Amino acid sequence: MRKRIQIIFVFCMLFLLAGCSLSTAAESEPEKEKMSSDAKESRDIFAMDTYMTVTAYGDQARQAVEKAEQEITRLDRLLSAGEETSEVYKVNCEGGGVLSEDTAILTERSLALYENTEGAFDIAIYPLMEAWGFTDGNYQVPDSRTIRELLLITDAALLHYDSEQRTLSFGAEGMKIDFGGIAKGYTSDRIMELYRSLGVTSGLVNLGGNVQVLGSKVDGSDWNVAIRSPENDEDYLGILKVSDCAVITSGGYERYFEQNGNRYHHILDPATGYPANSGLISVTIVSGEGILSDGLSTALFVMGKDRAVSYWQEHSSEFDAILETTDGTLYITCGIADQFEVQGNRKAVIINTKE
Ligand code: ADP
Ligand code: MG
Repeated sequence: MRKRIQIIFVFCMLFLLAGCSLSTAAESEPEKEKMSSDAKESRDIFAMDTYMTVTAYGDQARQAVEKAEQEITRLDRLLSAGEETSEVYKVNCEGGGVLSEDTAILTERSLALYENTEGAFDIAIYPLMEAWGFTDGNYQVPDSRTIRELLLITDAALLHYDSEQRTLSFGAEGMKIDFGGIAKGYTSDRIMELYRSLGVTSGLVNLGGNVQVLGSKVDGSDWNVAIRSPENDEDYLGILKVSDCAVITSGGYERYFEQNGNRYHHILDPATGYPANSGLISVTIVSGEGILSDGLSTALFVMGKDRAVSYWQEHSSEFDAILETTDGTLYITCGIADQFEVQGNRKAVIINTKE
């Protein structure tokens, strides 16, 4: 329920902000022109366990959102680890198999992320997600022995993937994979591709707070994306002005349970088996690719501020980030500092590249 309210807030904020300047642009254009190029089509969908909105502009807008919905449904069926008919479920039951094209791409990218985030992003985390009850809502804190035992098999280093044959095999009994940390970003990439193939040049998707935009708004100005505040559903950290990119946020506030006064959230640290307790409460990644923004938002959340900053300094040409630490300070990488307007009087620090 909490998640639903938050997501609706992100939707409202995004469309509110995008809507203001769209209507201004439309007013200044001739009526006929407006009808053909500004036609807007939008659709709300519930999939991948979250609320989504897909929007496209232009003559092909209706067909574009129709196809976007079909694509979301197809990928949800393929990738849902808990759905008995999905490919991921089958791979988990059989300890591997020959992968479809989508699953192969997700596997390759996930294993690359595992390597270069030193294991902070790990698709083999699923048995621990089950033990914590995040997969079925039967939340519980597993005992330390269970966690110790599961840590032995929740490690992507034990996955063997052959990219030529597209075959995956598990190196230990009981292993299971899950693309939950990356699937929505992949899905929004696919929708952008689909929009482009139909000739759509302006559109956006909001997959449960993960935003990806195609081109700019129809008046040629940047999209305004509100980054919500983890502390307060009604508030936001700031507004980011962007075109052609994916803005994806991970935070411990997205899904969690409370027990004996402690809060346990759904992003696990593969090094400990416990919810990541890194001093970060929100990580937003801005890049040209949804799959990268999604994977890195989860990984940098696990890493914590210092490791995340070093990682960005090594990869500053690939992405930008907005990190929020538990004391409320925002760390903004220099590539987007000019595009990000901090809300209120939050403390903000700009992170520069290494000399
Ligand atoms: P959300 O899906 O809520 O937007 P994330 O993108 O951060 O947030 O993904 C969280 C999901 O990723 C979890 O629900 C779980 O399926 C998976 N996950 C949790 N911890 C990790 C991890 N360390 N590495 C990879 N995937 C993870
Ligand atoms: Mg993610």
